[in-house]
Amino acid sequence: MSASTQRETLWGALAEPWDLLIIGGGITGASVLREATRAGVKALLVEQRDFAWGTSSRSSKLVHGGLRYLATGDVHLVRQSIRERKRLLAEGDGLVRPLDFMLASHPKEGGKHWQGRAGIFVYELLTGRWPRGNHATSRLHELEPSLVREERLIGVPYDEAWVDDARLVLRIVREAVAAGGAALNHVRVTGLLREEGRVAGVELWDTVGQRSATVRARAVVNATGVWADSVRAHLSGAPKLRPLRGSHLVFSSQRFPLAHGISFRHPRGDRFVCVMPWEDSTLVGTTDLDHSTPLDQEPSISSEEVAYLMEAVESRFPALGLTVDDVVSCYAGVRPVISSGASDPSKESREHLVLEEEGLVTVTGGKLTTCRAIAHDALRALRRRIPELAALEPEGPFLGTPPALDDAPLSPEARLRLRGRYGADAPALVAAAHAGELDAVPGTSTLWAELRWAARNENVVHLDDLLLRRVRLGLLLPRGGEAHLPAIRALCQRELGWDDARWESEARAYLALWRTHYALPERPRLSAVNEVRLATSLANPVQLRTVNLPGGPVHYADYGGSGPTVVMLHGLGGCYLNWLPAAPLLTKHARVLAVDLIGFGRTPIAGRSVGVEAQRQMLHHFLTEVVGGPAVLVGNSWGGLVALAHAARAPETTAGLVLVSPAQPPPRGTRLDPAQASRLVLHTMPGVGEYKVWREGKRTGARGLFMDLLTLGCADVRRVPQEVVEENTALIAERMERMPLGHSASYLRATRSMILTLLGRNRFESWVHGVRAPTLLVHGRQDRLVPVASSEALAALRPDWSFEPMDDIGHVPQMEDAPRFVARMVRWLDESKAAPRLSPALVARQA
Ligand SMILES: Cc1cc2nc3c(=O)[nH]c(=O)nc-3n(C[C@H](O)[C@H](O)[C@H](O)COP(=O)(O)OP(=O)(O)OC[C@H]3O[C@@H](n4cnc5c(N)ncnc54)[C@H](O)[C@@H]3O)c2cc1C
Repeated sequence: MSASTQRETLWGALAEPWDLLIIGGGITGASVLREATRAGVKALLVEQRDFAWGTSSRSSKLVHGGLRYLATGDVHLVRQSIRERKRLLAEGDGLVRPLDFMLASHPKEGGKHWQGRAGIFVYELLTGRWPRGNHATSRLHELEPSLVREERLIGVPYDEAWVDDARLVLRIVREAVAAGGAALNHVRVTGLLREEGRVAGVELWDTVGQRSATVRARAVVNATGVWADSVRAHLSGAPKLRPLRGSHLVFSSQRFPLAHGISFRHPRGDRFVCVMPWEDSTLVGTTDLDHSTPLDQEPSISSEEVAYLMEAVESRFPALGLTVDDVVSCYAGVRPVISSGASDPSKESREHLVLEEEGLVTVTGGKLTTCRAIAHDALRALRRRIPELAALEPEGPFLGTPPALDDAPLSPEARLRLRGRYGADAPALVAAAHAGELDAVPGTSTLWAELRWAARNENVVHLDDLLLRRVRLGLLLPRGGEAHLPAIRALCQRELGWDDARWESEARAYLALWRTHYALPERPRLSAVNEVRLATSLANPVQLRTVNLPGGPVHYADYGGSGPTVVMLHGLGGCYLNWLPAAPLLTKHARVLAVDLIGFGRTPIAGRSVGVEAQRQMLHHFLTEVVGGPAVLVGNSWGGLVALAHAARAPETTAGLVLVSPAQPPPRGTRLDPAQASRLVLHTMPGVGEYKVWREGKRTGARGLFMDLLTLGCADVRRVPQEVVEENTALIAERMERMPLGHSASYLRATRSMILTLLGRNRFESWVHGVRAPTLLVHGRQDRLVPVASSEALAALRPDWSFEPMDDIGHVPQMEDAPRFVARMVRWLDESKAAPRLSPALVARQA
């Protein structure tokens, strides 16, 4: 029966009663399915994307004894990990492979050096072997010639094992299904069914067939890893998880040859970095950072993580001269770690959690290595509801024994590989191979036959299922294996039952996904936004540029267009992408550039002031050096204040001024609310304000911070395009990681400067009077940040300005109702004669 027929048959059987329903097709869900099935329980697993799509295909690929957990005193976890590793090495030979590791350590690390050595001593004893002698410097260099030549650097040996993580999940799922279990990928749980106050099933949505179903089960397990809180939220369970991102770089083994895994301390700080051979490559990882981008978006490595990992590699392997150009691919995964509130992410415990709430058993937070033991813990919690589970043998075998492949025309290595990865299917895979398909894809050990087998039998729904998880060519080959796509197509298209159009659209989607999430990040990472713009067939996709100006580099977005130049400045805490909804509409009438103010978005802050005057000078240099003549300045909120200051001080560069809910003092005579005044004082106090925003950021994450700002600024947040939210959130997340106090430092310093400027009301009013250019003042009537009365008072000071209060809009009209805002601006451009005063030949000089 073909994979798609099997899928249809299973979908048709969903209405039958099930004993157990498992949400999540990562290592945990797969192991629960395997063990429940072994106990004779009728179990169904559903996975919203692909099996192992989540963290289980993005790990460090180690089946490890958990050496680092000794440092946090988790001896139980270490013992359990060692036991499970031994089992997986024996049962999963070929899929799990032993790997000699060394800690490269130097006495100059002081106490840490001795601590590391002592830790490995204890660890080796726990594994049941007497610790081996350390490798002295000369021996270390014989073993790993590319390691830095440093007197007294020693290698402390210990044992580990590597694994193809996604294939481990797939093998467990396949064996569970062969034993009577059921599993569906690309089926999402959208709701929980509750009867008499207990969870009695789930609502499903099939993203392939675009259909829904209700499934009843005696018990439901939530094995959704880092998504566990979102499933628990259906029961109003308070969040328990702290999503922590870890990222890796992949190099080819020719460029970065290694015989051992090596761990060492990062030159900046105490964290360990590991480099190790894996498949035909060398992995470098990992990082440990709070992850605040939405979980339904594939995680990606940030530029800062790339720099951090490259710094580690360069410091320990300088002779290789590795650069980012040698990186073949990158990947990032998010750990489901149980939050204790520790300030350092690396201090959070890696123990798993089993929790029962209204009949829903949640199991999360574990590791690949301990998957079997974790599954048993989860199933123990279900025994009351499913008594058959009591029969489960706690120490029984986990993986099946694959048949020998003695007669197959394969090298011993290839035989081991197929038996480990495909278990009982290995002989059929070999039998299904066409001529030449038992050869390896060049540059890898992956056999062509694996692709045919997976395409035919392994529930591949999208091309990334095949190339990133069934086989790992997407990680191992440059550009995700693009050069081999024609050969893969010839082999797989018919097996998958795809016509030409389907193949081509899958290939496009795969390559776009690879570029966005598995390639080195561009700086800035904007492909998603570009694609949105291209998809809406606007004439000009946004181009992101950097220019080096006196004072430092400045980032700006060139939205294109022709005609007079319009330069846009964003509000506090935002970035040039806040103009994304409006700017493209304006390109029919003008050349549009949006500048990132210092310290927000991507314009760097290091060594620079973020105050009003510094921002104004940056704008001045931008207008002089990039625009080359006067422009219409458009400023929203804080950007409005900067634009106003500039228009008054440098009229020769200002052809027109558009102030959009600008930051301004309250109208004269307004009495400040004492509570608000004290909040302002707190905000402006050095240190205190930063700390407050930093705490908020810790609590709500980058998305929370941005959503709070949006909620304040908008009459209706839903009108802000999703890509603006996503890109701002990503930027805030990057800033939170980059700076000691994250986002707060630049944000608070700018707020302080703004408030101090506004307190000097006389200076503000002198700027207002000093503006010579035609001016449009726009204000959203539902603005909660700057009352409309302030703009009314401003308009009264300058009756020659056009004043446009806009209904049903808050502080950010250009995001909430871009078409109306742009239409008003274009009318004003026509009426005000601002545009004809512009030089028509204002060509941006590009960095
Ligand atoms: C960088 C990094 C390195 C690591 N290295 C190692 C290592 O070397 N060794 C080790 O043992 N462990 C390692 N770990 C830990 C290990 O990878 C994870 O703990 C483990 O993969 C978690 O598996 P899981 O099944 O719980 O979660 P996941 O693999 O994330 O699976 C959960 C699944 O649930 C699905 N899901 C979510 N919501 C729904 C829904 N509503 N409906 C249906 N499905 C849903 C998701 O799509 C996902 O596929 C590492 C983790 C990271 C992040």
